[in-house]
Amino acid sequence: MSKKQNKIYIIDVTNRDGVQTSRLGLAKLEKTLINLYLNEMGIYQSELGFPFTNHEINYLKANLELAEMGVLQPIILSGWCRAVKDDVKKAHRIGLKHINISISTSEQMVKGKFGGRVIRDPKENPSKPSIIGMMIEALGEAKKGGMTVGVNAEDASRTDDEFLIKFAQTAKEHGADRIRYCDTLGYDDPFTIYHRVKNLAREVQIPIELHCHNDLGAGVACSIAGAKGAIEAGVDAYINTTINGMGERAGNADLVSVILALRKSSGLKDLNLLDERVDLSKAWRIAKYASYAFGVPIPINQVGVGGNAFAHESGIHADGALKDRRNYELYDFEDLGRGEPEIIETGRKITTGEYGGIKGFRDVYEKLEIEFKDEKEAHTILELARYANVHTQKPLTNDELLFLARYPQQAKKILTVAPMI
Ligand SMILES: [Zn+2]
Repeated sequence: MSKKQNKIYIIDVTNRDGVQTSRLGLAKLEKTLINLYLNEMGIYQSELGFPFTNHEINYLKANLELAEMGVLQPIILSGWCRAVKDDVKKAHRIGLKHINISISTSEQMVKGKFGGRVIRDPKENPSKPSIIGMMIEALGEAKKGGMTVGVNAEDASRTDDEFLIKFAQTAKEHGADRIRYCDTLGYDDPFTIYHRVKNLAREVQIPIELHCHNDLGAGVACSIAGAKGAIEAGVDAYINTTINGMGERAGNADLVSVILALRKSSGLKDLNLLDERVDLSKAWRIAKYASYAFGVPIPINQVGVGGNAFAHESGIHADGALKDRRNYELYDFEDLGRGEPEIIETGRKITTGEYGGIKGFRDVYEKLEIEFKDEKEAHTILELARYANVHTQKPLTNDELLFLARYPQQAKKILTVAPMI
C-alpha cells in the first residue's frame, strides 16, 4: 500500500502576529472580515487572536459562533497562548478547540528573559521551574480539554539541535499534535532551515509548522525550504503566513508569495505539495482588503498583487509581453483574481457611518441590493453601521456593510468592547 502524500497547509497568522506588531492594528470587525476572506480562499487555519486578552474575548466568541453556524467553515480557528495553564483555561472557556502554546527554547532567550529563574531542562535541577516542565503542564491542560495543540518553540532557529529535539520529543509524548519551529528573529537561511527541520522531523516524526520572519529578507524562502525538509522526513508541514507580509519588525512570510512559490516555482510546481483547497484567485481581494484595513499601501513591486507585478514599459519587455505573455510573465494576473474592472463612483456619493441617518443608510444598502423586512430591522443595522465605523474609523467597505446586515447578532458582539476595570 502506498503511503499518503504528505502535504503543506497554510496557517495564516495575520490576526495574531500581524496585529501584535508595532504601529499596526485592526478593528475586531476587520479581523473578522479577514477570517471570512481566508476561509473563502481555502486557507486551512487562521490563528485569530489571544484568548487571554480581555478585549479579544467577544470577537473570539462571535467568530466561533460564525464557525458553528457554518459561515466560518471549514477553516480552523485557533488561539495563541503562552505556555501557562491560565491562558489555556481561558482559551477553553471561550470555546476554542485549537491552540498553539508558546515558550522560548533558546539559551539566549531563556537566560535573557528569565534571568536564571527558569532553566531549560528539569534534569539540571528538579527544584527549579523549567521550559520543558512549563510546556508539559500547559500542554496537559489543553489535552485534558480535548484541544488540538501546536507547541511553539520560540527562537527555535537559535536553539541547539539537541535541546530542540528533546523539547519536541517530550511534547509529542505528552500529546502535542504539531511543533512550531519559530524562526523568531529571521535568523535562518533556506539551507540551514531545510537541514534543521528535516533532522527534527526525522528524529521526532511529528508534523512541523514553519514560522519565519523576514529580518534577512528570506521569510518566504525559509518557509518553503523548511516545509520541504519536513515533507522529505515524512511528515506534513504547515506554513505560517500573513497577508502582505505584515508582522513583527520586517514582517512574516507573505501569504500570496508562499502560495505562488509552491504552485509556480520550477522545482516545486509539479510536486503538488500545497493543500489543493487553496484558491489563489482570492489573492487580489484579500491583499487589497488587508492593505485598506491596516492602512498600509501595497508596494508597487509586491509579489503578485503589486501595481507593477504585470506592468511592462521598456521596449523589449512590452513588445515581448504583447507577443506572448509567457515571454515576461511567469503566471497570469487572472490566477490572482486580477483584471476585473473596479467601479469607482465619480459623481455624487452617499455613505453611511458613525453619524449617519436612516435615509442615507437606506440608499447605501439599496445599492448593495439588501432589503430590510421592516423599519425596526433597518434601524438595528444602522446602529451597527454607526458603531462599526466608530471602531474602524474608515469608510465601511461593501463586504463590511453586508456582514452587518447578514449577521447582526455576531456583529453586535464583535463591536462590544468594554474595558474590564
Ligand atoms: Zn512571529
